[in-house]
Amino acid sequence: MDKKIVIVGAGVAGINAATKLVDNGYPGELITIIDMGKDPYNRLPEEVMTGMLGAGGWSDGKLTYHTAIGGVLSKYTGEEKAMELMDQVITNFKRFHPKPEEVQCSNPESEPEFIKPYFGLRLFPVWHVGTDYLSEIAKNWYDYLVSKGVKFIWETKVHAIDFENCRVLGKSLVENLEYERVYDDLIFAVGKSGIDFAQQLANEYSLPDEPKSVQIGVRFEAPQKHFQKLIDISYDFKLYRKFEDKGVSLRSFCTNNNAAYVAVEETYGDHSYNGHAKKDEAYRNDMTNFGILMEINGIEDPFKWSRNVVKKCQMLNTGLYYSPNIKNSASKTSEGGKVSSYQIVTAELNKVREAFEGYFEYIEDFIEDMKEVFPTLGDEWGMYIPEVKYLSPEVKVDYKNLALVDYPNVHFVGDALSARGITVSGAQAIYVAENILEFK
Ligand SMILES: Cc1cc2nc3c(=O)[nH]c(=O)nc-3n(C[C@H](O)[C@H](O)[C@H](O)COP(=O)(O)OP(=O)(O)OC[C@H]3O[C@@H](n4cnc5c(N)ncnc54)[C@H](O)[C@@H]3O)c2cc1C
Repeated sequence: MDKKIVIVGAGVAGINAATKLVDNGYPGELITIIDMGKDPYNRLPEEVMTGMLGAGGWSDGKLTYHTAIGGVLSKYTGEEKAMELMDQVITNFKRFHPKPEEVQCSNPESEPEFIKPYFGLRLFPVWHVGTDYLSEIAKNWYDYLVSKGVKFIWETKVHAIDFENCRVLGKSLVENLEYERVYDDLIFAVGKSGIDFAQQLANEYSLPDEPKSVQIGVRFEAPQKHFQKLIDISYDFKLYRKFEDKGVSLRSFCTNNNAAYVAVEETYGDHSYNGHAKKDEAYRNDMTNFGILMEINGIEDPFKWSRNVVKKCQMLNTGLYYSPNIKNSASKTSEGGKVSSYQIVTAELNKVREAFEGYFEYIEDFIEDMKEVFPTLGDEWGMYIPEVKYLSPEVKVDYKNLALVDYPNVHFVGDALSARGITVSGAQAIYVAENILEFK
């Protein structure tokens, strides 16, 4: 029997799943894709997260090609299968690309000798699709699926799913109309824009989730010249180190160069830090900033623990800034104001160490070793405390087909599961489609 398939979310994951199905002879008429955004002919650039190809539709168009990047994949599929699935996603992007010959792969191959004694450098290939082409890709891809009979329901927000009776309930955002659809198999692919809805379902059905790690650290800032040797090899370099026996690993995260600014993030009323780079030369400040993020495993309630650390690292309603050189102070934002922070002196670092409950020493060691690797750095740096990533829950799924353990016809994929990027999201979805094809 061919089953009715409903896909919630026409993002990278949903679209790759449908493509795998119809490419293998699954009748398109049995596939319905519901999305709260618009079709690619009507989607506006400011609609960053919703519509055909979802967040991938107006993304940077970088397709990372490594199982250690972009979220959880090989845990479910195994390493070899993961690479094969990612290949399929990249092939799809090339296939619908108006100029596939322009899709280039950058692949830095070897770690430079000078960092080797202290750090690993994560090197991975990236396929560059080109942001400018994404809209054309989306149109070609959409036309193909429509030609195969796939039914798209646009501008309709799904607000409830009845897992017991296999019903999806939505509401049109343009007319005051309720929408209902029954399914045999459901692919839940709502991405980041649907994360609250995913949480709502998780609460409603008490869906068990996977244990998560804590992701916390600092935003480090220094003049770019000290890191130039490494930036020339890898622009967004990823230094890392691992303490397997302690359940701790550290990595430099999201490096910004040339016109690099530290940004304040306000979450739950507290300040933490992040960074961004401006493209316009007028903003050039020749600074580099990156997160030094720790992943800490084995903490019982990672969310509560992280929030507590963040709270303890606030003074006068803002986060902290520290530099070993007292003459340094927090730098300017791209708008010209000072990055909101309270400057602490060396003696006050003890409060930070206490707040991090022993884990801050890993960051201090990381910085000490950077001073060895980049010998001109000295004390010409500062750090903004804390930087934090609150991870969304990853529901427990059957590793064979990413179906909920209690609802074997409901599959979670993409950023709504554990992905954080285009290739992994698409790969998870193709994996599910292959399983559906096997048992159709
Ligand atoms: C600005 C930006 C740049 C990025 N650049 C890159 C990059 O260069 N490389 C990379 O790998 N990743 C990048 N990403 C991340 C990448 O886009 C996502 O990881 C990927 O798109 C996730 O795919 P997905 O299908 O899970 O979700 P999405 O692609 O986000 O799709 C989810 C879809 O679900 C729909 N939806 C959500 N809730 C509902 C609901 N209740 N009812 C109906 N429809 C719903 C949304 O409208 C959306 O179309 C970027 C993200 C952003 C925002």
